[in-house]
Amino acid sequence: MKKHSTTFAIAGFSHETVTFWPGLTDLEEFERLTLHDQEVIEKRRGTNTPVGGFIDVCEREGIELLPVVDVEVEASATVSDRTYNFYLDKIREKIEKNACKMDGVLLALHGAMVTEGHFNPELDMIRALKELPGKEIPLGVVFDLHGNLDPAVLNYTDIVCGYHSSPHLDMNETGKRAVRLLIDSLKGKIKPVSVMAKPGIVVPSVFSAATVSPAKELMERKIFWEKHTHILDISVFFGFAWSDVPQIGMSVVAITDNRLEIAEEAAEDIASLAMEKRDALTGRGKFSYYGVSEGVKLAMDKAVKARRPIMILDHADRINDTTFVLEELILRDAQKSAAPGTPPGFITAPVAMIFIYSHQIFGIGVCISVQIHVDMCIDQTGYNGFSRHIDDFPIRWDRNIIFSPYSGYYAIFKYNSALLYRFSAGYVYESGAG
Ligand SMILES: [Zn+2]
Repeated sequence: MKKHSTTFAIAGFSHETVTFWPGLTDLEEFERLTLHDQEVIEKRRGTNTPVGGFIDVCEREGIELLPVVDVEVEASATVSDRTYNFYLDKIREKIEKNACKMDGVLLALHGAMVTEGHFNPELDMIRALKELPGKEIPLGVVFDLHGNLDPAVLNYTDIVCGYHSSPHLDMNETGKRAVRLLIDSLKGKIKPVSVMAKPGIVVPSVFSAATVSPAKELMERKIFWEKHTHILDISVFFGFAWSDVPQIGMSVVAITDNRLEIAEEAAEDIASLAMEKRDALTGRGKFSYYGVSEGVKLAMDKAVKARRPIMILDHADRINDTTFVLEELILRDAQKSAAPGTPPGFITAPVAMIFIYSHQIFGIGVCISVQIHVDMCIDQTGYNGFSRHIDDFPIRWDRNIIFSPYSGYYAIFKYNSALLYRFSAGYVYESGAG
């Protein structure tokens, strides 16, 4: 009998659902961005996406790819069931049609999607694919670091990997980790045994920045465990706070080469460390806390002598569109705040505030409607360029206060010599990175 080459189906279907957001995110929102079939390979190859990582490794290894779809829609309201069914059907049909030659399935999911009828649609999808009639197909899944994972995910998957970096600079690398492990497992080189520990902590994403304490210490502990001979992979998922689901919160997944007890020990150890740091991870720790008013005043005072930009970052919710900080900046006439010899003013990352500033129409009571695009945040890799190339960011750094309501908190971790303030739920705290 002729041996066929190894064949993997690849698909991505990703959404971070804010369940408190009114309305629905419907199929049209997804289809606007969806890559179908061969387009997935053409457009994702070499990109910083999990599917890009799948493709890069598979092509190098001579693995035949059956691309289905790839789509990621930014955080928004609950996903409609018809959207979920549409993509599940597409993926399922392709697998069933090619079942005889299918060696594995690679999925890029978020882990924090919620639909009208599924509070854990990703688990339901994985289970539906795993339980297809016929032979059981090996399944490798990549989740976002902000996924709210249910331990049951491990019952229906062979490999689960999550990003190590937040901001997500390693999405491609995570795809590669997952596919390499799946390949080694199929070749019989390893026997992956996975364990998930859930410490029971809901982390606002502002505290999930992987290079800043307290998340940093958890990542260091992860690196420590990864050096262990029997550990194949570890992922720390910080979860997604703006979601009303039973599986909410952090989780740690450890994969070993057939050593259950070591997987348990590693996952539990990292989960315990998270528990120790619970106050810091939930914003109740003994940081330098300020109200918005006091925090803005402090930032402005420091701006007078600062040699680097001061960033004020509003992360009160996932949508990052609250205006409490902006109001305070206006009230305090912050645009006049400047170090000697530098131009006055503050800049916001979004086009809207540059627009307001440049048109000299800044002031209380001015009502402007500007559509904010994040094209300035996207680099050629198609994602998260803002965080990767902050130095190239097309705003000038000679202002003193930068207020960035759109995912601006990414920036601070690159610019660690700036004096930094993070806002969360109406509070401000000094990061200590200054
Ligand atoms: Zn994320």
